[in-house]
Amino acid sequence: GREAALAAAIGPGATADGHPVPLLANIGGPDDVEAALAHGAEGVGLFRTEFLFLGRSAAPGEREQEEAYLAVLDAFPGGRVIVRALDAGADKPLAFLPPPRPEPNPALGERGLRLLRAHPEILETQLRALARAAARSRADLQVMAPMVATAEEAAWFAAACREAGLPSAGVMIEIPSAAVRAADLAAEAGFFSVGTNDLAQYTLAADRQVGALTGLQDPWQPALLDLVGLAVAGAAERGRPCGVCGEAAGDPALACVLVGIGVTSLSMAAPALPAVRAALARHSREECVLAAAAAVAAGSPDEARAAARANLPGLA
Ligand code: PEP
Ligand code: MG
Repeated sequence: GREAALAAAIGPGATADGHPVPLLANIGGPDDVEAALAHGAEGVGLFRTEFLFLGRSAAPGEREQEEAYLAVLDAFPGGRVIVRALDAGADKPLAFLPPPRPEPNPALGERGLRLLRAHPEILETQLRALARAAARSRADLQVMAPMVATAEEAAWFAAACREAGLPSAGVMIEIPSAAVRAADLAAEAGFFSVGTNDLAQYTLAADRQVGALTGLQDPWQPALLDLVGLAVAGAAERGRPCGVCGEAAGDPALACVLVGIGVTSLSMAAPALPAVRAALARHSREECVLAAAAAVAAGSPDEARAAARANLPGLA
């Protein structure tokens, strides 16, 4: 339709010297597709499927899920759509899926993939619905697991995906152990997507829901940049792509830095896409590499921001 034509007219993301950086959208469901296309998204880098499960007394059935997934896939024929398996718990509580036992620290509790392992039938239904939708569409469907801490968890998820007929399984890198042991995880998973929101929370031990801690949650924290570097290096060891889908990807200067670190795609809230596309188009890959080196060498988020900007002359 009109939105797809518009997206094609905007063109794919790339640095000034033509190094491609696919620019993808974070969405919560079919209702977000129109804005994604209008802002030139080349696909979906993070489909937060939690939204399909919100405000219900039970999980949506397989057919209902299939239609919702198909509605998203059909908007991106030939494009990539990365669907995240249900990420329930902590900041995304679901009424019908509480943690199995009371928890004093839900962010450190049975959430995300841990909760899916406690309720395998929920994951199996979701994966079956995704496989059925993929079979009816021309999009490149990829599935990824939230809150993966170990290579064993990555292997468990990949096996569940294979069993459902979904060969392309990736993992989110949003727990420090996953970044530190990235090469082990890459042996089990086909791709990485770094979730900088949770990775910052766990790296700085700063609850993402506590407003007083936003300075520690700052995605320019040098420790966070270091962990993104570890994830990229571990992925590269196994020839795997490593994208970013946390809020950091939507900051134009930080997007350039992430590309300089070696991140292979960026996914963000749709309204952030045009400014990120413009920032990449004004800088060569080499400038991004220099900006990344300057940011990583800094001692604080403010210094990192300033050091990166000093190396990115094309930023507004
Ligand atoms: C993240 O943690 O960075 C992420 C992309 O996932 P969410 O914000 O949904 O937890
Ligand atoms: Mg997360």
